Amino acid sequence: MERIAVKFGGSSVAEASQLKKVKAIIEADPRRRIIVVSAPGQRYAGDAKLTDLLYLCHKMAMLATAIDEPFALIRRRFAEIAGDLGLGDRTLSELDSFRAALIGGCSRDFAASRGEYFSARLVAEYLGGEFVDPVEALLIRANGTIDEDSYRALGARFSRQDGLYVMAGFYGRDRLGQVKTFSRGGSDISGAIAARAAGAILYENWTDTSGILMADPRIVKNPQTIAEISFREIREMAYMGASVFHDEAILPVREAAIPIRIKNTNRPDDPGTLITGRLSAGTIAATEIAGIAGRKDFSMICLEKSLLNKEVGFAHRLLGILREHGVSFEQCPSSIDAISVIVEDAQLQGLEEVLVDEIRRQLQPDSLFIEKNLALVAVVGEGMVRTVGIAAKIFSALKEAGVNVRVINQGASEMNIIVGVAATDYQKAVRALYTAFVDNP
Ligand code: ASP
Repeated sequence: MERIAVKFGGSSVAEASQLKKVKAIIEADPRRRIIVVSAPGQRYAGDAKLTDLLYLCHKMAMLATAIDEPFALIRRRFAEIAGDLGLGDRTLSELDSFRAALIGGCSRDFAASRGEYFSARLVAEYLGGEFVDPVEALLIRANGTIDEDSYRALGARFSRQDGLYVMAGFYGRDRLGQVKTFSRGGSDISGAIAARAAGAILYENWTDTSGILMADPRIVKNPQTIAEISFREIREMAYMGASVFHDEAILPVREAAIPIRIKNTNRPDDPGTLITGRLSAGTIAATEIAGIAGRKDFSMICLEKSLLNKEVGFAHRLLGILREHGVSFEQCPSSIDAISVIVEDAQLQGLEEVLVDEIRRQLQPDSLFIEKNLALVAVVGEGMVRTVGIAAKIFSALKEAGVNVRVINQGASEMNIIVGVAATDYQKAVRALYTAFVDNP
């Protein structure tokens, strides 16, 4: 039997009225058998997310401060959901022993994981499904990657093809069997793992937007939704700052060639965005680019030295100095007598002076300076390499907008062109590129 794995994010399980929509979605397609849920999220702007309250309680308990107030909010939230859906109080009664565990000094990960745990317990009861605790089968290594054995173990857990399973997202266990969470937003990863373990034909990720947008809606007014995008493109977009779903959630399904569809729980008929290994011919023909993404807060360390190109190992030594100080770099454009390295501001913090001294001492450049307040903007698209005139379009759009381009880099993946501009020109650059490629292609 073909099965679909579905993951519902925090806003989809935030309250009873949302869970009714979830039920309707599950019932609308009998192939939706593997369900993964987040902890209840925001019901309205400014509302507290359950996970944040859990972290807060844990911190307060560690400081031996009374947790009554935040804990009451957690309890009330679950009690309201259970009450409004007419569920029993078995799950709620477990909250008392959790409270004792918090006061007794449980781990931070255990505390945070209870949002998903109780959420999945309630959803399983409501949908008449079987609750799956990922601590039984999902092994997360110390470095945050997934132990391959987890797929087999979870697959066995989902063995009944007609069974309806509800698994808690966001956590698994470590080698010692203790609860271990992913990074924030990690239920997306759990959903991808469940999809692969179950051999699902599709991984549906249900959220509160109708797919991934071609540009940041805070910069471009009403950007178009991406109908179809490849795994490679989405990784580039996420890396360059597009807030799509968790970028680590792509690998488990990509390796198994399971497509992902991003859907909106509040508008289930909207097509959303399909993320696939191989774009359909129509998509490649219809769109020159997949989207535009960008990040601010970069600095560029610029060095000049005559005959630099003749000095073997110059770049190696420069990057070695960065490595010694634990600084990772984004890009490293070079020319005959100059080389520069672009790094995130956060990486440089407190290290500027030592780096400059060290570079001067070891490499004796003719000039050395750090240019601050740079933004990087990426135009991403698989079809770009085969299309004539993309670069020309990018640079004429930026010229028309009066944006000075400080750095140009065609990513090694040949799927993006990245330009570095002054941070003050960032929004202008994104808008100009969007207009050139999407509004007036
Ligand atoms: N509840 C967790 C968080 O808020 C994980 C998730 O929702 O994906 O980060």
